[in-house]
Amino acid sequence: MLENMENLNFAQRYQKILQEITEAAHQAGRDPQEIRILPVSKNHPVSSIQEAIDAGIRFFGENRVQEAKKKAELLGPDIRWSIIGPLQSNKAKYIARFAHEFQALDNIETAKILDERLHKEGRTLSVMLQINSSDEPQKSGIHPRQAKEYIQELQGLNNLHLTGLMTIAINSADEKLVADCFARTRSLRDSLLPFLAPGQKLDQLSMGMSNDYKIAIAQGSTCIRVGTALFGARSYDV
Ligand SMILES: *Cc1c(COP(=O)(O)O)cnc(C)c1O
Repeated sequence: MLENMENLNFAQRYQKILQEITEAAHQAGRDPQEIRILPVSKNHPVSSIQEAIDAGIRFFGENRVQEAKKKAELLGPDIRWSIIGPLQSNKAKYIARFAHEFQALDNIETAKILDERLHKEGRTLSVMLQINSSDEPQKSGIHPRQAKEYIQELQGLNNLHLTGLMTIAINSADEKLVADCFARTRSLRDSLLPFLAPGQKLDQLSMGMSNDYKIAIAQGSTCIRVGTALFGARSYDV
């Protein structure tokens, strides 16, 4: 798939992925409108993001706070940012100022600091709990069995609006193993619904990246995070 996308410009790649989402959704008996693409611009220069902006995109995913902050300053307030990578508590103040979403919440102490910082800024932030659905020890995210406790802890943090769960599947050629990670996350979500407080939601399932988004859509994803298939291979010296 990625090979034959190389000659396309951003708008063409985007259209192609939209089409594939539509097909994957229909195959799964789902409405394609339920699924958003979050273009992941990490390790790509502002010039590439500008090409996406010209194609109508206004919301980007970044996994490093410093890099996102720099880009946010350059591109101005019309562009929104979703942080999808781990957050150190000393960076919470930056996120609180410019980000609109944080998908990788996996630490309650950091959540508390983030909530205080948001309060100071007079802002709120949509957050997703990151679930380690593959049970790989090196992976970010909380273990599924911790999720209920996290949701209860978040109930006191009024500047963080819980919207869903995020996961990164196992990196495997075995599609069954990948699908299992997504299915586990979705059934965890279903099991958590009775424990939500008013204002808390778990409508969002952020699942799927360039290599596995079709599998994720079949398993109920509502947000696919696509980097390489939209922007090409990453350059690591932005
Ligand atoms: C980099 C990244 C992506 C995008 O990965 P691609 O394989 O390039 O689509 C998605 N999610 C997270 C959390 C990432 O860090």
